[in-house]
Amino acid sequence: MSDAQQITLIVDGEETKVTTGTTGAELFFERRDVVVARVNGELKDLDQELPEGAEIEGVTIDSPDGLDVLRHSTAHVMAQAVQQLRPDAKLGIGPYITDGFYFDFDVAEPFTPEDLKTLEKMMLKIVNQNQKFVRRVVSEDEAREAMKNEPYKLELLGKKNNAAEAGEGVNVEVGAGDITIYNNVERKEGTTVWCDLCRGPHLPNTKLISNAFALTRSSSAYWLGNQKNQQLQRIYGTAWPTKDALKAYQERIAEAERRDHRKLGVELDLFSFPDELGSGLPVFHPKGGIIRKEMEDYSRQRHVDAGYEFVYTPTSPRDTCTKSQATWTGTRKACSRPCTWTRNSTRTAPCESPARTTT
Ligand SMILES: [Zn+2]
Repeated sequence: MSDAQQITLIVDGEETKVTTGTTGAELFFERRDVVVARVNGELKDLDQELPEGAEIEGVTIDSPDGLDVLRHSTAHVMAQAVQQLRPDAKLGIGPYITDGFYFDFDVAEPFTPEDLKTLEKMMLKIVNQNQKFVRRVVSEDEAREAMKNEPYKLELLGKKNNAAEAGEGVNVEVGAGDITIYNNVERKEGTTVWCDLCRGPHLPNTKLISNAFALTRSSSAYWLGNQKNQQLQRIYGTAWPTKDALKAYQERIAEAERRDHRKLGVELDLFSFPDELGSGLPVFHPKGGIIRKEMEDYSRQRHVDAGYEFVYTPTSPRDTCTKSQATWTGTRKACSRPCTWTRNSTRTAPCESPARTTT
């Protein structure tokens, strides 16, 4: 191998000579847990060529960045399944989020829980087909041609130069740099079975998603998070590197639901939320009243111990209370709450408030 065919890379801090044109996939051939490469600080698909002198780091699927890529790639698989189930569905955006992902769709009918079950099965089929994610740099005209049936993607292309301010999640699809489309290529025939306008990166293939994913719920969502826009249907999901990690996550969620105060409040006869009062407004039952009083007594005693004094004002003052309250340094916002306090004034306040005398 002559020097002319070689380049030098810094791989995980060590200088390494490789042939010109070497990709991340070739560099990390023996590390199956590496799913993307950090190249000079930026995440890149493994099939991209590595440039001379670049600092390279392998990103594993269980690292924070690896999990984000896994979840976003799973969102692609879900969108492909959705367009199989509902061929008229138009694509919105599909970013990763904490512990999972979502994708928005313009569809005639909202998704049902049965739809989500069907979609999970269809997604597993796509995963098992081991489709390749193939990055394609395109011109704006080529992107418009490829996305001609996707009105929301066409709109995003128009926002490319202003992606950061354009709305929720736009950066995931377009932004600074090349316009890229990712093809999902089916292995047997080598044909592109689905594609999306997206900045990437993605996993090298769908097989890496394994069966450790689940669709969790659906809801409506406004296009780009703006309520003046079209209402779309959003499906949320989660994805993990292993089935065990998925199960552990699902157990955490189930445990949180078991401890949900709204559920426990009803089950233990502590409080309820009558519809006629409005959502989120609790009525405390006798048992709940005992707990509430104990907490209030404790809070009051702690304030007395800390040198506060109490003042009392009406709980439904005029609107101007918000303004006058601003003069109360340290007073909390909710002027109709009976237990806000301040540390540095005893002036009359528009709230029932313990106050500490300044001397
Ligand atoms: Zn993508």
